[in-house]
Amino acid sequence: MTDVPQGEMDDLDARALELDRTHVFHSWSAQASLSPVSIAGGRGSTVWDHAGRRYLDFSSQLVNVNIGYAHPAVVAAIQEQAATLATIGPSTANLTRGEAAKRILAHAPSGMSKVFFTNGGADAVENAMRMARLHTGRRKVISRYRSYHGNTGGAVVATGDWRRLPNEYAVGHVHAFGPYLYRTEFWATTPEEEAERALHHLRRVVQVEGPDDVAAILLETIPGTAGIMPPPPGYLEGVRALADEYGIVLILDEVMAGFGRTGEWFALDNYDVRPDLITFAKGVNSGYVPVGGVIISEEIAATFDDRVFPGGLTYSGHPLAAASIVAALDAMEHEGIVANAKQIGADVLGPALADLADKHPVIGEARGLGVFWALELVADRDTREPLPSSEVGFAKSALLERGLMPFTSENRIHVVPPCVVTADEVAQAVDAYDEVLTLLDGRL
Ligand code: PLP
Repeated sequence: MTDVPQGEMDDLDARALELDRTHVFHSWSAQASLSPVSIAGGRGSTVWDHAGRRYLDFSSQLVNVNIGYAHPAVVAAIQEQAATLATIGPSTANLTRGEAAKRILAHAPSGMSKVFFTNGGADAVENAMRMARLHTGRRKVISRYRSYHGNTGGAVVATGDWRRLPNEYAVGHVHAFGPYLYRTEFWATTPEEEAERALHHLRRVVQVEGPDDVAAILLETIPGTAGIMPPPPGYLEGVRALADEYGIVLILDEVMAGFGRTGEWFALDNYDVRPDLITFAKGVNSGYVPVGGVIISEEIAATFDDRVFPGGLTYSGHPLAAASIVAALDAMEHEGIVANAKQIGADVLGPALADLADKHPVIGEARGLGVFWALELVADRDTREPLPSSEVGFAKSALLERGLMPFTSENRIHVVPPCVVTADEVAQAVDAYDEVLTLLDGRL
């Protein structure tokens, strides 16, 4: 590639864009206004285009590339599996699939006994809700207004953001507000008040919906796309107690927060809570092959010992996905990648973002843990009025110009690098954020 003249490499990027704009239909977008960045390769926390323009990826794409790009062990495992057995149906027993399930369960809380593999996160949520409904014989699923659970029939209706409204065709979904002290719905002034009042509100929603018809409470352990709001102390523990009181299944959606993102294997490891079902995807193999799944408690798994589970997928437990999971989880363990995310969050990224929040009036709040942080941007610190999306768009372009690939959502920048990120890379990124936040301060 290095022998190819620069002009021809620029042409490849132009060609990628031309083909994309002519033939590719993108997610969640009005198509005419799009102008995506061309990406040709990547390694570690960095990606580049054909012409060699490099970007430090502080988005991990859709917060999934936890192990970084081109991890050699994961690439080799996929190549080896492709040469051995590239595909096999889900009704067979396959050694690699079994090894993948065993490794996932090794990191899950005790009492979880089986894994149902899906193609990604949305269908993991879809199947978890179905298991809860069949297990309890009840219909309703309560989830949160500020949440994202995926783009399939039921998961998008369980979702709590704008994407639910044009897609609301599934029935049996109810929403409640969760804790979010910065924009409290409960007039709370402390994390303790916020937890107590959010729990009271959830209890009232369960009661008025008819507890005998509530199959599941579905929560992201830490809401991700909706703004990375770690729950206040006692909240998740309180939800568990409420679910137990009314015989409701607790599903924790760990699709984004799981597998290292928070500096623990699962985000739930940061709290004293044990769900009945856990959904996962993204970080389990960093998206090298599409995959997701449901981790199932012994009790719910036993429901389907003698009763048919009416659900399945042609590619459930696909061998390329399974091989990539085995290699990714082994590498994360042997290379201390989860511990790196924890240490970087506590010692480097967290303090640096707190300094940025002290310095820049445009930051209303910096919150998070591990490599899972949000900068909530405001037009006015006193009123907490969200920064308009045009300004966030300006910040996104300005960061890209500085070689940083950001993740933005509504009035926020999510600071979500791969779990392998180094202190030097964080320092580079913080310089870029600092420059762009200074520009934003000046535009207020
Ligand atoms: N659940 C959560 C918490 C997510 O963040 C996402 C995706 O961002 C999903 C489910 C859906 O996953 P997928 O896009 O793999 O279907």
